[in-house]
Amino acid sequence: RAKENGRNSYQLYTAAMNAASFEHLAMEANLREAIKNGQFTLHYQPKIDAASSRITGAEALIRWQHPKLGYVAPSLFIPLAEDLGIINDLGDWVLGSTIGQCRNWIREGMDDFRIAVNVSANQLQPGFNERLLNMLKEAEVEPRYLELELTESAVMKRSEDVVPMLTALKHRGIHISIDDFGTGYSNFGYLKRLPINKLKIDLSFIRDIPASQDDAELVSAMIAMAHKLSLTVVAEGVETAGQVAFLQQQNCDELQGYFFAHPLPAHEIQPLLQAGICQLER
Ligand code: C2E
Ligand code: MG
Ligand code: MG
Ligand code: MG
Repeated sequence: RAKENGRNSYQLYTAAMNAASFEHLAMEANLREAIKNGQFTLHYQPKIDAASSRITGAEALIRWQHPKLGYVAPSLFIPLAEDLGIINDLGDWVLGSTIGQCRNWIREGMDDFRIAVNVSANQLQPGFNERLLNMLKEAEVEPRYLELELTESAVMKRSEDVVPMLTALKHRGIHISIDDFGTGYSNFGYLKRLPINKLKIDLSFIRDIPASQDDAELVSAMIAMAHKLSLTVVAEGVETAGQVAFLQQQNCDELQGYFFAHPLPAHEIQPLLQAGICQLER
């Protein structure tokens, strides 16, 4: 009986493995095709200055509309693209598109904005800085228009390689943010030595404030410590007026979330960026 079970589970295991690697192969082809066939777009979610409620810029978020699969969430395909070693091509597409969009907006006469791009750890390989600075130069977009969002683990895992690269980019005027702060190492002693401008508090800490006293205290401590390190603080996933009031009271610098705006296609965010204000969707 045990043997039978063992055998069955072995068969199940290999079947699942084959299915998984088959899916992997299919998805790899899908992803490569998607880059070639222009199935990716970028949406932009406004970031709000907490004190003035003015828009300071936006975060670029990739969107994939597959002709048969429909909408595929980045939380599904970004990790896959990392595993498959195609995150560099995808990442270059995101950077190139964002910079192209910045160039268009600058040509429209817009000036006072900054667009953040999410960057995976694997993208920070030799040659990354050169490619990025070259894209900016070719497009005649000053580095001050750009911000990179990296997770703590992305920076910490290979800090000997990554820190010098980020230092060089920061010196050029590109802002560097730690994304999803609080979910990783959250080592403030270490943060002090990183070449960063900004912390983005992960939305899991924002969700239950101000009702959750634990989270409220955590968030206010994170903001206070970040300010001691001269870092700007952004709260992500802000959905309610109660969260806004609490974060303003704690002197959080910037707010981002559905309360203000969802991620929007370029033509929809442009008028908001131009006006500097968010039309509230309520
Ligand atoms: P992230 O960088 O932390 O982005 C924030 C996520 O929260 C986005 O999900 C955004 O749409 C969502 N969000 C914004 N406001 C709210 C809110 O008020 N409530 C809630 N519940 N969610 C909100 P999205 O677009 O699905 O992206 C998920 C993750 O995928 C991103 O997390 C980022 O890690 C990754 N990602 C997205 N675009 C790119 C990209 O171009 N390159 C790379 N490497 N990663 C990307
Ligand atoms: Mg982000
Ligand atoms: Mg985040
Ligand atoms: Mg996140």
